[in-house]
Amino acid sequence: MKHYDVVVVGGGHAGCEAAHAAARVGARTALVTLKAASIGVMSCNPAIGGLGKGHLVREIDALDGLMGRAADRAGIQFRLLNRSKGPAVQGPRTQADRRLYRQAVQQAIAAQPNLEVVEAEATDLVIDGGRVTGLTLSGDVSLTAGAVVLTTGTFLRGEIHIGHERRPAGRMGEAPSVRLAERIEEFGLATGRLKTGTPPRLDGRTINWDVLELQPGDDDPCMMSFLNTLPFVRQINCGVTHTNENTHEIVRSNLDRSAMYGGAIQGNGPRYCPSIEDKIVRFAEKISHQVFLEPEGLDDATVYPNGLSTSLPLDVQVEYLRSIKGLERVEITQPGYAIEYDYVDPRSLGPSMEVQEVRGLFLAGQINGTTGYEEAAAQGLLAGLNAARSASGGDPVVLSRRESYIGVMVDDLTTRGVTEPYRMFTSRAEYRLTLRADNADSRLTPLGIDLGCVSVERQRAFEAKAAELDTARTLLQAISFTPTELDNVGVMVSQDGVRRSAYKLLASTDVSTDKLLRISPQLRTLSASALAQLAREALYAEYLQRQITDIEALKRDEGLIIPGNIDYSTISGLSAELRQKVVQTRPHSIAQAARIEGMTPAALTVLLGAIRAAGTKKSA
Ligand code: FAD
Repeated sequence: MKHYDVVVVGGGHAGCEAAHAAARVGARTALVTLKAASIGVMSCNPAIGGLGKGHLVREIDALDGLMGRAADRAGIQFRLLNRSKGPAVQGPRTQADRRLYRQAVQQAIAAQPNLEVVEAEATDLVIDGGRVTGLTLSGDVSLTAGAVVLTTGTFLRGEIHIGHERRPAGRMGEAPSVRLAERIEEFGLATGRLKTGTPPRLDGRTINWDVLELQPGDDDPCMMSFLNTLPFVRQINCGVTHTNENTHEIVRSNLDRSAMYGGAIQGNGPRYCPSIEDKIVRFAEKISHQVFLEPEGLDDATVYPNGLSTSLPLDVQVEYLRSIKGLERVEITQPGYAIEYDYVDPRSLGPSMEVQEVRGLFLAGQINGTTGYEEAAAQGLLAGLNAARSASGGDPVVLSRRESYIGVMVDDLTTRGVTEPYRMFTSRAEYRLTLRADNADSRLTPLGIDLGCVSVERQRAFEAKAAELDTARTLLQAISFTPTELDNVGVMVSQDGVRRSAYKLLASTDVSTDKLLRISPQLRTLSASALAQLAREALYAEYLQRQITDIEALKRDEGLIIPGNIDYSTISGLSAELRQKVVQTRPHSIAQAARIEGMTPAALTVLLGAIRAAGTKKSA
């Protein structure tokens, strides 16, 4: 019987990061997956990153994970979302060529020492004295293991729905995992059902691109990995179109044929990634929704219509698509569908992603009730590192909410659980001014170096960058200008005779770096990237005290009573979803409001302000 330190089940985003991370720290690792050729497949949208998700990718990259590097290799359109807002909420995103992404992940897995791929179905876990000791595979093969990571995604008792038609599947074209689901239930782990959906795929050759608005990527592309500076392949445009009243009428009149609305699906779906049926019911007042037409690859005519996920029957999908500008003659290459699957209540896990009742067993990814590649990959990385440490008798690594979005997500999942698929948003992080995508390396790479999961190449690049930033910071803090010198280059400050440091001036959005370079030639020795990074750092140094005050206020006021007659509809700054939840729940206190699933620190601060304004009194 073959022995591994760590066995990871599942070759999706969580599984690949878990296996690669375990192998990087020296654990002899097996990646057991149903189809080796499907390793690194993107089941849904051909994109990596975005708001909140881009932060996770940068954190994965800072710990030398795969996702950022693979996304850069495959990136065909890079955009920094929220560019006009502050750096803390900007999210790097790239559209990815599906084939190139899969190829990049498979190459990285193949090149990693200590890592072996085993193509098989995992059917059972071997438990001895409350600890997992191995795994049974289809064909009665067994493996022994020091620790096991399960990352089975949407495969546990997965069932696809297209209208009233349903069939068992883990995702389109792949069988579900039923035996393992039954076994997990036998352990007494709490499980539930969730659902998610995907849009139909279109033949791009049947789209009338000439009538569509085209959206290019950014002129100065922002890479997903700290190791890269430029895209590797040709960049493309996406198309933009809109649904219309006719589209909405077609969907509305067929709602009874939708799996989600016809009563066939019980599980909750992702609120933040609604199907077209959901959008038309929930936002009935809207007469149009934007649809991005995203090419799936450079040598692939397939187009992903982002915003049109559905579980309507195929004939209705064709009809509503053809009512949309530019899609009048479109052909579908794969119908949209919904999938319902089992998930395990993540409150069964500790902060290291280990199942509390079964030592050595770790869960990561969609199996824990999350949605999205990035959320899965981030959990996988942490679970893989901890599985390796568990197998070798080491202490677990736990990431805190203060140092990373990964810490925020794991804490949310393991303490609050989920009732709908969980996805990351910047508003979930109370420390979001310090947890930026641009500084993920300075937050986490030193930890990665200590843990031994960072390559020598990355360690060198990181140390060189950190030294450059230190030198630049010292110089910027040492150089200062009089108000007159600043006035001469058009920087308006009060003529108070006080010298201002270049570092402090960089924090001001009104002061362009060019103007400072004109006064001080010494600053020209600094690279543009170091100056830009320190400008972001200086900007947030100004706000950090406010962040600390807000967090302390939240802790102090947990017992604050919310008046029963509070009118939530008048509180601006609460999202529609959260407003709906507080109206339904009517929390008695701030502490109770904080426990509402999806409640964010930002929303709690808004609530606190409203209660104060209404003049409430503290609970006894
Ligand atoms: P997966 O990527 O699903 O990988 C699971 C892996 O486990 C597979 O390789 C499978 O072969 C393997 N496996 C399963 N059972 C076994 C077994 N018993 N033995 C061996 N191997 C096994 N995300 C969004 O953010 N937005 C969306 O709109 C969205 N829509 C989606 C729509 C559909 C139809 C699907 C299927 C997914 C969608 N997702 C969406 C989710 C996204 O694809 C997942 O969140 C992400 O892929 C989860 O990664 P994972 O690693 O947890 O699982």
